[in-house]
Amino acid sequence: MALSQFLYWAIIAFIVADFAIGLWLTILNAKASTWPVPKVLEGLYDDEKYRKQQAYASENRKIGFITSSISLVISLAFFAFGGFAWLDGVVRGMTGSYVLRSLLFFGFFFVVDFLVSLPFDIYSTFSIEQRYGFNKSTPKLFAGDTIKNFLLNAVINGGLLCLATWIYTLSPDWFWLISFAAFSLVTLGVQYFASEIIVPLFNKQKPLEEGPLRDSIEAFAKMAGFQLENIYVMDESKRTTKANAYFTGFGKKKRVVLFDTLIEQLTSDEIVGVLAHEIGHYKRLHLWKMMSSSLVESLILFWLVSLIINSPVIAAAAGCTEPSFWINVQVFLMLLSPIGLIQGLADNAVSRKHERQADDFAFHHGCGASEASALKKMSAQALSNLTPHPIVVRFEYSHPTLAERVESLERPFPIIWKEGALHVKSHTGGKDTRIPEEEYVGFLPSDKPRKGPKGL
Ligand SMILES: [Zn+2]
Repeated sequence: MALSQFLYWAIIAFIVADFAIGLWLTILNAKASTWPVPKVLEGLYDDEKYRKQQAYASENRKIGFITSSISLVISLAFFAFGGFAWLDGVVRGMTGSYVLRSLLFFGFFFVVDFLVSLPFDIYSTFSIEQRYGFNKSTPKLFAGDTIKNFLLNAVINGGLLCLATWIYTLSPDWFWLISFAAFSLVTLGVQYFASEIIVPLFNKQKPLEEGPLRDSIEAFAKMAGFQLENIYVMDESKRTTKANAYFTGFGKKKRVVLFDTLIEQLTSDEIVGVLAHEIGHYKRLHLWKMMSSSLVESLILFWLVSLIINSPVIAAAAGCTEPSFWINVQVFLMLLSPIGLIQGLADNAVSRKHERQADDFAFHHGCGASEASALKKMSAQALSNLTPHPIVVRFEYSHPTLAERVESLERPFPIIWKEGALHVKSHTGGKDTRIPEEEYVGFLPSDKPRKGPKGL
């Protein structure tokens, strides 16, 4: 069998295997849904709410299965029956510009993917989320979000694609290194300015108002040795009742963003618990670690692309007679899917490790109990799955399971954060001792001196 034919069958096998693994994970989770609730989470749902959770999870599994089945049929049929060669001919006939051909080729998949997933997004938002009381979005807001997302992705990804193709036409030998440098700069730029350019397209953010909550957060930040200039509240309640918070940006642009739903649902101690976790990510340099490893990954990817970019064998695997930037990149990405799977497993393992470290940071700063309480409230409100299958966790979870996190956060520790201050719990069950503010600094042993680039 010729090599190109072997690659053709390998790609078909990968597409099918990808679907089969997804299905296997869904079945595992369906089985695990009848397992008893872990001891630390008993009582989180009453019977009626647990039935509701099971029904919600089951509906989501079904819609996930239908979506991936449709995508399996489309990608298999398109690839196996010469769709790539057909599309290659179409874009070559439409324009003589190499860059535009590349844009049209990938643009076709972008639009098809958008059109196929749109009905499912609509169903998920206005049927599933609506019936379980999560959706707050209106058709008008949803349409606006969808259009903005589409345009934003088209501009950023389309721009990067044109840039890479253009660099390839200028310097086929070095395009991988130059494109990598350009991609990295754009990615860093987008990260740096996301809060000011991209987020405002979708949400309003305003600084957290003066008051007891802000005071409590500031006292905690001071104790934890964190310069906190930017705490923002975001109006996510217009879309969903689910609560969340995140940490974004670096250098002067770093900020903590709390969803307004979080402030409505949690006590101020619980919010400080969530914040302590976010500060933990920052203190342990997780953003930098993730960013540098993804830069290394993409450098390797660009280099690998450069090895096959002119290969007629790769183009022939998709039934094309002539190699081209678009066909070779597309086929290469499909051939890479098993490596992508392994990379996903590794990335999730690293992410779970970071989450444990951030939880530990909160724990060692007296916020174990309050973060655990916040996580339980948020998970119960969002009808989270309490018994995910351990294999599914390995494949798909960027965070440890709720049970694991709560168990770790609720382990005994003599110091707790309560009502805007640290307290040492009494051994005899008597009154706690409040630690005065001036004794905060350097009090807690876990907070090692920070290493790393200045200004983090
Ligand atoms: Zn986290």
